[in-house]
Amino acid sequence: MPSYALISVSDKTGLAPFARGLADLGYQLLSTGGTAKSLEADGLAVTQVSEVTGFPEMLDGRVKTLHPRVHGGILARRDKPGHLASLAEHGIPLIDLVVVNLYPFAKAAADPATTVPGLIEQIDIGGPGMVRAGAKNFRDVLVLVDPVDYPRVLEALAGGATAVPQSLRFELARKAFAHTGAYDQMIAAELAHVAMADDGGTRIPADERETFPEQVTRTLSRIRVLRYGENPHQPAAWYADGPTGFGNVTIHQGKELSFTNLLDLDAAARIVLEFTEPAASVIKHTNPCGVATGADAADAYVRAREADPLSAFGGIIGLNRTLDAATAEAIVSTFIEAVVAPDVDDAARAILARKANLRVVTADFAALASAASLEWRSILGASLVQQRDRVIEARAAWGPEGELTVVTKRQPTADEWQALRFAWRVCAHVKSNTILFASADRTLGVGAGQMSRVDSVKVAIMKAGDGNLGGSVVASDAFFPFRDGLDAVAAAGATAVVQPGGSVRDQEVIEAADEHGITMVFTGRRHFRH
Ligand code: 5GP
Repeated sequence: MPSYALISVSDKTGLAPFARGLADLGYQLLSTGGTAKSLEADGLAVTQVSEVTGFPEMLDGRVKTLHPRVHGGILARRDKPGHLASLAEHGIPLIDLVVVNLYPFAKAAADPATTVPGLIEQIDIGGPGMVRAGAKNFRDVLVLVDPVDYPRVLEALAGGATAVPQSLRFELARKAFAHTGAYDQMIAAELAHVAMADDGGTRIPADERETFPEQVTRTLSRIRVLRYGENPHQPAAWYADGPTGFGNVTIHQGKELSFTNLLDLDAAARIVLEFTEPAASVIKHTNPCGVATGADAADAYVRAREADPLSAFGGIIGLNRTLDAATAEAIVSTFIEAVVAPDVDDAARAILARKANLRVVTADFAALASAASLEWRSILGASLVQQRDRVIEARAAWGPEGELTVVTKRQPTADEWQALRFAWRVCAHVKSNTILFASADRTLGVGAGQMSRVDSVKVAIMKAGDGNLGGSVVASDAFFPFRDGLDAVAAAGATAVVQPGGSVRDQEVIEAADEHGITMVFTGRRHFRH
């Protein structure tokens, strides 16, 4: 009996060349109505699924492939004589390839004109069944849910089906389950925004939706088991929450990434993502000990490191530019645990290789920037979900014409505006309470994670060490509850302050600033990071 490739796809991208390749390899193409029509239009010979099942597609397409003659051909174990005998007895052909992508539910959901019944009709039933059957029987069945996999599967099949490595078959199977899992999750999420009633219900318009539905299901795919969690006695693993972000990094070299490395890499990337100019961050225990912008990656990095060289020892670096040779030389000149950048060039690789333990990771920064608008934190026996914090008020340059309120008598100078904006973008990513001294392009002293704001001021001044804070600016992640913090930053030499405002004692703090000749800007947005 011939070997069948079952093709049933809503998204016909890349279909014709792939199907032609399969036909050339000797596969008989087996398709549902629309797919068959498309393949025939491309001059390919196709058998209709209805010819194999002996049933027409029915119920407006709700039942096309749901039939033992289809699922038997996919699910039969080739290594079990009994399974093969059953197929022979019932004249069921083997299906060795399942090429399916599902009804475009997301597209229907995105169209506000789609009604509830219209949405329901876009729920694919037979497609996921075939995908899951193919994935379950991955040892003998290749399952493809994504056109990007077509070329490499054709390539792998060129040496015959038995030459296709189990690793590829298994990878495709896992991808298939992730795909059907995500599909059902998407349906459940969309249906959470339907107000059901006896008349069939209505869809809640996008701008009236609660972002946080009553029930949430998540599909997390494990990337790997980690050696341990924060401490050696805590078992831990790393999971991907969707296809982008820190679930999809490339590890170029170095010791295995640890739980705390990943937390720090995340913190490192978050900061440099705020900048369009070359920027570098050096992280210790999720807080930056130094952040700087510069003419290029190397310049930014060296200046970030020198902001607090003692703390930078054993740090984790974030860069928003390609890691090049000059940056690599600077990195290997001291002890650094890990670095994340959008890319690393060949010259840099050779230099970084001299430090075999140094972990070098690249990530798609555009994807990081847009990844995961929701953030999850676990507390004892429960989860908290929030929208990711972004410093959108500092995306564009700051100046007197902007949206920000200068609350003091003195207005910031152009240099102060620049430094305030720099400080604010970094401050948002430091653990609260945060007080951060900065120049226009570098942190000078970071006071992080203190239980009182005035203590954060003291820590920030202490961290600045011998560095001169005269003419510096200060960012505070939340309002100053009393004037003591403001008095302390003035005494240290700061000339400008940015903070959200909103304290009942704002007036007292503003008066203190005026007394010291400090200029102060209120953003109206707080950036706690607990
Ligand atoms: P076609 O364009 O070939 O007519 O239909 C292809 C689509 O039908 C694919 O997205 C596939 O997942 C879906 N499909 C295949 N079999 C069934 C079935 O039995 N029921 C439903 N609802 N969809 C199916």
